Amino acid sequence: MNFQFNDEQRALQDLVRRFVENEMPKDRVAEWDKNEEFPPTLLDKMAEIGLMGATVSEQYGGSGGGVMEEVIVIEELARHSSTVALAYGLDVCFGAVTLERHGTPEQRQEFLPKLAGGSCHFALSMTEPDGGTDILGATKTVAREDGDHYVINGAKVYTTGINIASHVFVVVRTSKDPKKPSHGLTVFLIPKDTPGIHYSKIVKLGSRFLHSYEVSYQDVRVHKSTIIGARDKGWHAVLDTLNNERIFVAAVCNGLGRGALEDANQYALDRTAFGRPIGQFQAVQHQLADSLVELDLAQLATYRAAWMQDEGLDCSVPAASAKYFASEAAFRATDRGMRVMAGAGFTMEYHMQRYYRDVRQLIFAPVTNEMTKNFIAQVGCGQPRSY
Ligand SMILES: Cc1cc2nc3c(=O)[nH]c(=O)nc-3n(C[C@H](O)[C@H](O)[C@H](O)COP(=O)(O)OP(=O)(O)OC[C@H]3O[C@@H](n4cnc5c(N)ncnc54)[C@H](O)[C@@H]3O)c2cc1C
Repeated sequence: MNFQFNDEQRALQDLVRRFVENEMPKDRVAEWDKNEEFPPTLLDKMAEIGLMGATVSEQYGGSGGGVMEEVIVIEELARHSSTVALAYGLDVCFGAVTLERHGTPEQRQEFLPKLAGGSCHFALSMTEPDGGTDILGATKTVAREDGDHYVINGAKVYTTGINIASHVFVVVRTSKDPKKPSHGLTVFLIPKDTPGIHYSKIVKLGSRFLHSYEVSYQDVRVHKSTIIGARDKGWHAVLDTLNNERIFVAAVCNGLGRGALEDANQYALDRTAFGRPIGQFQAVQHQLADSLVELDLAQLATYRAAWMQDEGLDCSVPAASAKYFASEAAFRATDRGMRVMAGAGFTMEYHMQRYYRDVRQLIFAPVTNEMTKNFIAQVGCGQPRSY
């Protein structure tokens, strides 16, 4: 077994680290968070140094990296900002993967070079007001066929980043088969300024500069060439991206947890009480040690799942385990960070509160840890399906 990155992977990690230090120092991220505004040129700058195309095939202008390269980029971005990492993931870990696997040759040719060049960005409009866990039961948005077109009507919630996206993936019902709710779903990829799309911002606790929206689709007329994959087989396309999505979220959590631990560690070295640094007290040291151990294990689980997916092995349970463990580990790392920093951690002057707020959503989005454990029990342990 080899636990080391190869030369190209090390170079990629160095490149992203330098980018993060120069273009998104923590104080600048805090400003974006305070102003609730996504930095308009950040993704362009990432494209300039090849990050948007890190995993796009070389034939479409990318550098052809795999899931491991995706993880390396995401972890480094998330050390300073999980919000930036999530925005990157919407394009690279969700959009690019869906198009590479399910796009027609024309769709791949149209979108992937632009994605690598930073001129097109994606949002995903899947969750509906009736619930995100029972997605098949809750999906009511419909598309009615009309000649060469479809007309979409319905409502979505939490569509993240549609304000900064050029295009949106919309998951809708195109036919009803009550015996099998997974049949009859179709994915469309449409320009976000198509007439009939309206969105309004949801005020939320974390990721304050990457907004999520309620979106209504009112008689949105789109050409049938905007279908990704096959009509009525959209669930297959969605399922096919799940392992990648879980590994991506695990990587976000690893980076976020690492950022929180670094801050707590530095504070423990700098802050004094009873005439010595608080890091000299075992009660403080053990909190840091617990976080380091858990974050290391989460990283190992993530790398294993990423390696398996790159090797074409079935990584569904390892990917789910990594998402579950990494998000809980990162959550605990931010909680311990708050304890180590005490009053300072609670103020807006330090970054710990941002890590603490931002990690919350990763416990339940894009999939809840309860649902993740249902899957692990069913597929990993062979228990009957519980829902
Ligand atoms: C900040 C943010 C960004 C998001 N971005 C996007 C996006 O870009 N695009 C998009 O489409 N969606 C997005 N989502 C939606 C996200 O995927 C859902 O929030 C998530 O799937 C959970 O759905 P829910 O919130 O409706 O919770 P619910 O499904 O209502 O679940 C509520 C609780 O019930 C539990 N539960 C339900 N069923 C079971 C069961 N069978 N067994 C055990 N427990 C169960 C859940 O685990 C959870 O604890 C985002 C959400 C947030 C908060």
